[in-house]
Amino acid sequence: MNAVVLLGPPGAGKGTVAEVLVDKGYRHVSTGDLLREQIRLQTKLGLEAKKLMDQGQFVPDEVVVGMIRSLMESSDMSAKFLFDGFPRTQIQAEKLDELLQSFSGKIDDVVLLECPDEVIVERLSGRRTCTKCGAVYHIKYNPAERRDGCDMDGCELMQRPDDNEATIKNRLHVYAEQTAPLISYYTEQGLIHPVDATMSIGEVRSAVLEKLG
Ligand code: ADP
Ligand code: ADP
Repeated sequence: MNAVVLLGPPGAGKGTVAEVLVDKGYRHVSTGDLLREQIRLQTKLGLEAKKLMDQGQFVPDEVVVGMIRSLMESSDMSAKFLFDGFPRTQIQAEKLDELLQSFSGKIDDVVLLECPDEVIVERLSGRRTCTKCGAVYHIKYNPAERRDGCDMDGCELMQRPDDNEATIKNRLHVYAEQTAPLISYYTEQGLIHPVDATMSIGEVRSAVLEKLG
């Protein structure tokens, strides 16, 4: 049970890159998507997470680690996970190492999507997401071909409640404080592959595929 981690600030393009890696046999796991699914189902976990997510704050480590643990326990030993938005704190990173070890697995690579704050603000402000399947678009850089909805299922596109300017600023601050230290954690282990995420979607995807090749 091995894993690749996509690391990088909110809006750097982790989900967008993940879409092409799924075709290479990776199982895409986005903790943000898992949490939004709990919100949609109106579970207790989802309702508590929503309050934090809407403010751009992290959901507690034990909640997120618990979700990942159950997912691993119910997965095949040959699974190749692609983690997107996890780990986000030092504790989560250590717990992930422990969990993988308990399944005789490890992290093979960590791809770091590097992107300056001004690019992120523009990307997140223009992000649109399908209300049903979660497909991600951008009003300028990756618009839906249908004018009235999602290209996959025709459902309405929305702006995520946390993609407004004030919350974006808060998320960038939380990233710098809690997640950026993971760059040295993984650099020390020789796992980091930096990629310039300011390039076009196609160029970033190719660069990531090359690093993982
Ligand atoms: P982004 O587009 O910022 O990368 P995500 O969809 O990954 O957004 O996450 C949205 C929100 O969900 C985060 O701002 C945070 O509140 C919560 N979240 C997602 N993953 C984690 C995690 N690993 N630890 C704590 N909170 C998380
Ligand atoms: P993350 O998962 O890191 O939060 P997303 O994959 O959701 O990021 O991308 C954030 C927004 O930026 C989306 O609207 C997406 O369409 C757009 N986007 C992603 N990668 C690029 C890129 N290389 N160039 C321009 N826009 C991009």
